[in-house]
Amino acid sequence: MKLATFDEGNGPEVGIVVGEAIIPLTRAKPQLTATMIDLINHWPTARAEVEQVAAKNEGPLPLVSVRLLAPIPRPGKIWAIGLNYADHVAESGMETPKNQVWFSKACSAVNGPYDPIELPSVPTPHVDYEAELVAVIGAGGRHIPAANAPDAIFGFCVGNDVTERAWQHSGPQWSLGKSFDTHAPFGPWIVTADEIPDPHNLGIRCLVNGETRQESNTQHLVFNLWDQIAHLSSAMTLEAGDVIYTGTPGGVGAAMKPMQFLQDGDIVRIEIDGIGAIEASCKSDGRA
Ligand code: ZN
Repeated sequence: MKLATFDEGNGPEVGIVVGEAIIPLTRAKPQLTATMIDLINHWPTARAEVEQVAAKNEGPLPLVSVRLLAPIPRPGKIWAIGLNYADHVAESGMETPKNQVWFSKACSAVNGPYDPIELPSVPTPHVDYEAELVAVIGAGGRHIPAANAPDAIFGFCVGNDVTERAWQHSGPQWSLGKSFDTHAPFGPWIVTADEIPDPHNLGIRCLVNGETRQESNTQHLVFNLWDQIAHLSSAMTLEAGDVIYTGTPGGVGAAMKPMQFLQDGDIVRIEIDGIGAIEASCKSDGRA
């Protein structure tokens, strides 16, 4: 099932995407679905009702007539793993890490799947793209063994871990350079985990103005998603709607020769097989 958060002009609502239409679940089952996080929290009991609404095809709206928001507009937390594809480690001039390298992205950086990415007017803008598989936590929990990690996940999205490279590398940790407003787009919907039997075999691509910059497969993750869940949950409780960016393959703009950062008007498209695509134009914040 594909579940989306959308706005038809009345504020955020939750819907089921079926083909080129979206069924407003918030209207059919308001008690379940004030927000996507509510729905995820109720999922074990709500699922059958949601499937009924989908089967009845109640009040579908054309997908093109609504604005899709990030499926989780305000996650409780966003964690992202660095240096997690061998070719990206190599192009970054680093050693393959022995331990998982994590940083957080601010929840205020969340952006819709088709909304513009802001290019901040810092002295030398170095805004870069990172195509990533995004996992959304469902049941979550603490101290989750890798073998049980699949049960902790609600579903998957396409993500772009947009990064201000100069700010990322201005100190020993990366979070500020990863947290500019609009720099955490994901979506366009959540594909529930039952429809992605193996998240470690998905083609993933980034295109800038139609030119393929990144092309890989999630089978090349250094630390797979199950190990990521086990590691993160040994430190903290993972909760419904938490968002995990699982790493980016080689081909980022900072590793090109010469380096190529995103420019005003560039169109960045991220695709993951079996999930979909997000696409954004890049816009100067106009403060220069
Ligand atoms: Zn990343």
